[in-house]
Amino acid sequence: MERDVLPIYEYRKELVQAVKDSNFLIVTGETGSGKTTQLPQYLHKAGFAKHGMIGVTQPRRVATISVALRVAEELNCSLGTTVGYQVRFDDCSSKDTAIKYMTDGCLLRHILADSNLCQYSTIILDEAHERSLSTDILFGLLKKLFQQKMCSGRKRPLKIVVMSATLDIQKLSEFFENCPVVKIPGRTFPVKEIFCNLIGPKNLEGSAYVAETVKVVMDIHLNKMAGDILVFLTGQAEIEKACNLLFTKGESIDYQYDLRDQSVEGLLILPLYGSMATDQQKEIFHPPPAGVRKCVLSTNIAATSLTIPGIRYVVDSGFVKQLNHNPRIGMDILEVVPIAKSEAVQRTGRAGRTSAGVCYRIYSKDFWDQCMPEHMVPEIKRTSLTSVILTLKCLEIHNVIHFPYLDPPEERHILEALKQLFQCDAIDRRGHVTQMGKFMVEYPLPPNMACAVIKAASVGCEDLLLPIAAMLSVENVFIRPGDSEKREEAERKHQALSMEAGGSNDFATLFNIFQQCRMSTSPARWCQQNFVHWRALKSAFSVERQLQEITRRLKQMKDFPREKCEGPRSEMLRRCLCAGYFSNVAKRSAGTTFRTMEGCGTMVKIHPSSALHGQEAELEWIMFHDVLVTSNIFVKTVCPIRYEWVKDLLPKLHEVDVYELSSVAREAVTEKEMAKWNIKEGLKRQNEGALEDA
Ligand code: ADP
Ligand code: MG
Repeated sequence: MERDVLPIYEYRKELVQAVKDSNFLIVTGETGSGKTTQLPQYLHKAGFAKHGMIGVTQPRRVATISVALRVAEELNCSLGTTVGYQVRFDDCSSKDTAIKYMTDGCLLRHILADSNLCQYSTIILDEAHERSLSTDILFGLLKKLFQQKMCSGRKRPLKIVVMSATLDIQKLSEFFENCPVVKIPGRTFPVKEIFCNLIGPKNLEGSAYVAETVKVVMDIHLNKMAGDILVFLTGQAEIEKACNLLFTKGESIDYQYDLRDQSVEGLLILPLYGSMATDQQKEIFHPPPAGVRKCVLSTNIAATSLTIPGIRYVVDSGFVKQLNHNPRIGMDILEVVPIAKSEAVQRTGRAGRTSAGVCYRIYSKDFWDQCMPEHMVPEIKRTSLTSVILTLKCLEIHNVIHFPYLDPPEERHILEALKQLFQCDAIDRRGHVTQMGKFMVEYPLPPNMACAVIKAASVGCEDLLLPIAAMLSVENVFIRPGDSEKREEAERKHQALSMEAGGSNDFATLFNIFQQCRMSTSPARWCQQNFVHWRALKSAFSVERQLQEITRRLKQMKDFPREKCEGPRSEMLRRCLCAGYFSNVAKRSAGTTFRTMEGCGTMVKIHPSSALHGQEAELEWIMFHDVLVTSNIFVKTVCPIRYEWVKDLLPKLHEVDVYELSSVAREAVTEKEMAKWNIKEGLKRQNEGALEDA
């Protein structure tokens, strides 16, 4: 599509003027109207980048890279020069960069190093309607920075633009001091909505929706007029499963690991999910060959972040994968949940961009009425706040309860985050960040992992832990083919890799894969032979190098902890992991069931994918990294540990008591909920500290 026919084009002068005239500006407009790709270019042309970069945030990593690529193409420059991007562990920008796309998490980290954002003239917070946790925190931080005139270190005031796909922006405008709003009207065609009744209120669990979605796609392909299809599914595994089903239905092509570019009787099947390579993602924008129908199977990313041209049919599974805090285990867990009605409407709209379209909702009207909420709950209200609260503390924002939140999280969630930070020594009893906390934020890792890494560095075995931290930071490394024969072969290979690592420690298996692949003379072939994702390993190598760099830098500081720790390496490794993950420790209670040590304890089982599955009878204490909730609660990536390693740490889980928090938490925490917690003292003091500082 030519840039000057995009709806935003007519507003370019008005937009540039509005940014000049006011510190905050809100821009709304239909998805696809050109906000993300065009506005930064208008500002660039108007000379904004002379006084610092134009930074544009995105909640999603894939969208960040994809959009940067597109804009670099439009400006005819190579990525990393005038237009660049930065996502966690991947910085593709330079001193020449004028327009920088980055994830919202990256910008949060920048603020830690440069609280006035002196490198930037303009910050555009994009996809505000998604209400990602980092974007929500950025709203508050940027507002606060302004109020406190903390921008005084700057020559010119920072310009802040918030962009959103929804028109419901009154709350946002009020939050930003009633700032002006520019609305870009969209052009859309009517979309017919059809409820297919294949999924009802009883199908909330399981993955039946994948097969049902595939049926609808085949029906469209065989019976409906030309036009491309966009399918909304939940994640990589579900999308790969659907692709496999489509191939089998087409009955034409042998299974290959690379799912791209396979036409099944005139159907070009293209998956689109977060961890895909960028050159693969680019293909979804190309028109299909004549006579071929394109079918993109995507996660929610195609709902607002990316606009795929030529879509006539949308197939909506009705589900999305969402990170939710699970109070039973005190961790965030990825869950498949019904989408909100507002999201369904957004998905529907994708079919009416270039002509009239049809949206097939595989679910029933009852499902819509009974299972789908009106609006999505913002992430800040449903995920762990530990990481962002540590960031705020490092920015010397102590009163994290009265921070300007657009939607305040429940106080007990804030308290829980404080409790966790206190447990890993990142904050002291007054709620102030410790030296340990300051080292922890240097790592772009979750606090638990940062803690384990620092422990390893302090005893000199980071060479063991960094590869594991890297392997756990990248997408899933194991390939599980759809074809049953291949799958058995893959399982045998994976088992062999685990046996080589001792056969009873999933972390050691990851380490073994990392090392073997790195030592191999032909690593890509090694991966193929062992059913391991080469791209994931490549990322892991790069992540490990970056973590090493950070570790080397921190170790030069005189305050960096140094300890002695003797023992075999496999034991050292597990002890360091325990330093960060002692809240993920469980003791066998009966049969194959373990009880966690957090809170009142939750019953968990070892997931069949773990090397320890089947060895339960020989185990007493275990430590785990992930949790999967189905009908049971499963723990994944597990190793056996000894009680002595954690016995001094476990009391920390119970050291603070929420009963004594009453002064701040009374309204938020009911008696019953309090009883579930086991917190003493510390938090009360932390919060008193917080109030004192206010
Ligand atoms: P908005 O941010 O308002 O949703 P965008 O700026 O993302 O809009 O997109 C504007 C237009 O650019 C859309 O029509 C989209 O199809 C097109 N576009 C975006 N990225 C690409 C790409 N990589 N290749 C081809 N077209 C693209
Ligand atoms: Mg956009």
